[in-house]
Amino acid sequence: MNYENTLALCRDFPSLYVKEATKEECERRSQCEFLSEASRKVMGLSVNGEPLMLAMQWGFECGDGWFDLIHRLSVDIAEHAQTYGLHPYASQVKEKFGSLRFHMQFREKVATVIQECGIDPQTGRWANGEVEYLPGVKEIRALLRHAEEASASICEGCGAPGSLITDGWHHVHCAQCEAEYRRKRGVT
Ligand SMILES: [Zn+2]
Repeated sequence: MNYENTLALCRDFPSLYVKEATKEECERRSQCEFLSEASRKVMGLSVNGEPLMLAMQWGFECGDGWFDLIHRLSVDIAEHAQTYGLHPYASQVKEKFGSLRFHMQFREKVATVIQECGIDPQTGRWANGEVEYLPGVKEIRALLRHAEEASASICEGCGAPGSLITDGWHHVHCAQCEAEYRRKRGVT
């Protein structure tokens, strides 16, 4: 994702995409050669008076065509988070096998183990573990799955309707972006 869109998401949703760090830590991170240019450029810029450190190690690892999708998703997550008093943040946002993968964590403990994996002493049978989540966690995770599904028909290049192309690298493109993509790579 480009610099402008990366910065816009961080400034509009700092609780989701920015984590606490010192100016020096941001400076060090901005020199990582494996980081995209956009991510390096935003590191250390100011957000609410604090230096910007991306919460996701590798920034937004997807095309700009998904900016609107991710922005809308972020609005929904922020609303739900406020309603339920939760504090989620993005740990990874990337394209994988053509569609969006949005991994999220919470700043609070959201799961309680109510049944460990193992032999249930009462039945003598193997019991799979069971976890109880705080209210709102499942709802927020459902938003992520919904956006991930939606990404399969949104061109990652420009945001127009697109379809999943599975020859070679999997990706979602509209006809125009796919033609451009093939032309650049000399594929016919
Ligand atoms: Zn396109």
